[in-house]
Amino acid sequence: MGKPTGFMEVKRAENPYRSEAERLCDFRDLHLSLPADARRAQASRCMNCGVPFCQSDFGCPLHNLIPEWNDLLYRGREREALERLLQTAPFPEFTGRVCPALCEKACNLESDALTNRDNELYLIEAGFANGWIQPRIPRTRTGKRVAVVGSGPSGLAAADLLNRLGHEVTVIERADRPGGLLMYGIPNMKLPKEIVERRVRLMEAEGVRFVLNAEADPGALAEYDAVLLCGGAKKPRALNVENAGAKGVHFAVDYLTAATKAVLSGGEPAVTAKQKHVVVVGGGDTGNDCVGTALRQGCNSVVQLEMMPAPPTERTPVNPWPEWPRTLRTDYGQLEAIHRQGGDPRTYETTVKRIIADAAGGITAVETVRLKGFDPIPGTEQTLPCGLLLIAAGFVGCETATAERFNVALSPRGAMMPPDGSHRIRDSLFSAGDMRTGQSLVVRALADGRAAAMEVHEYLKG
Ligand SMILES: Cc1cc2nc3c(=O)[nH]c(=O)nc-3n(C[C@H](O)[C@H](O)[C@H](O)COP(=O)(O)OP(=O)(O)OC[C@H]3O[C@@H](n4cnc5c(N)ncnc54)[C@H](O)[C@@H]3O)c2cc1C
Ligand code: SF4
Repeated sequence: MGKPTGFMEVKRAENPYRSEAERLCDFRDLHLSLPADARRAQASRCMNCGVPFCQSDFGCPLHNLIPEWNDLLYRGREREALERLLQTAPFPEFTGRVCPALCEKACNLESDALTNRDNELYLIEAGFANGWIQPRIPRTRTGKRVAVVGSGPSGLAAADLLNRLGHEVTVIERADRPGGLLMYGIPNMKLPKEIVERRVRLMEAEGVRFVLNAEADPGALAEYDAVLLCGGAKKPRALNVENAGAKGVHFAVDYLTAATKAVLSGGEPAVTAKQKHVVVVGGGDTGNDCVGTALRQGCNSVVQLEMMPAPPTERTPVNPWPEWPRTLRTDYGQLEAIHRQGGDPRTYETTVKRIIADAAGGITAVETVRLKGFDPIPGTEQTLPCGLLLIAAGFVGCETATAERFNVALSPRGAMMPPDGSHRIRDSLFSAGDMRTGQSLVVRALADGRAAAMEVHEYLKG
């Protein structure tokens, strides 16, 4: 433990956001960084607790060695701190930007927790800036060939580890760019796409092969010694109301994908919120990303509807520390809407009852209704003008087409979870990430991809 009194002397300081007024004008990174001395002071706050819940099952799914690298960072030994971090964390440049920091919620300092996420981001970016991150090419190859289907965080983490273990890895990706939801899902302002591309280039230099615009075909994959399916769980929950197929009604991930493609390639997105009244169905994180994106595209207004009641502002007795707190959070997009519109865009216990379309089949308005539990309250209907309705109501599992093609039975939750809870479906076929667990978090997908890679490795060793 570097500084026994650090947590009493230094106040918690997160990386600040750029101001709403500034960041709403572009899709560039939301965050600013603190200078090196401020980061070291933040790391000095770690108490090196007897039981570090931050790296336990309550905290980081990767079991990052948080007290160890915080101590090294406090002492100014950044390069060693980064090496310690990379022992468990494959891509800190992703988790340092998008992880909800489960570790911080499990910290013994509770609401005054360490800034582990920002500290890990500082370390990895220092690694890239100082040239400490170089391709690590395996000295020996096993001669075994592995196909990883899908290049989201689970596929990338598995490919990275399998390659380090000496296997020849090919990643097969349907999209035109690798990254899964890191590329087409999480918006550019939260995770700039050059960060994803930088990691993919590094993996290529280390020997991983990426095949893009390619659909996984079980016949063609027969030549591989093992196949790991990491296809995600992007099947969206649909809205079952009148006129659900009207023009101007889109699923959130399709809308966010079009927005990122336009940011990367220039031009107008295939679907835009520009000069439209936007209604987002779903009060969660995906809905928040839609709010932030719609505001940047120049929407006239945006509201976010949530069926559930607003969460409490404080932990309740049934949700004690060190569990993840199920409390009200106001994320960047909602803060931007408050700045632009003067009020929180979220309305709770409300849903869309009916979509109103014009003669040409284009959406013009939605009729909403208040809910008690899941039941509509008669007489509470309201009509909101709407030119773009975005459905961010959650996901119901992985694609049935891929499951059918590979002849895999899905669990009742639509996941490729083998009954024994492992990653091995049968013979040389494995699954990982959201495809195995259902829609989750980047850090969980990374941890699951690495766990699957170890099972594949054990299988290949015979
Ligand atoms: C809008 C949005 C924002 C999110 N924001 C956050 C966040 O801020 N923080 C966080 O921790 N989590 C976030 N998540 C959740 C997180 O992104 C996912 O849990 C994570 O990406 C899952 O990783 P994965 O590798 O399992 O799958 P995915 O990232 O979904 O990747 C699957 C890949 O497989 C490809 N694929 C599928 N089938 C085939 C096939 N048959 N052939 C070839 N390729 C195929 C797909 O094209 C895709 O690229 C967000 C999710 C969404 C939808
Ligand atoms: S990956 Fe997430 S949970 Fe793990 S140390 Fe980083 S911020 Fe914390």
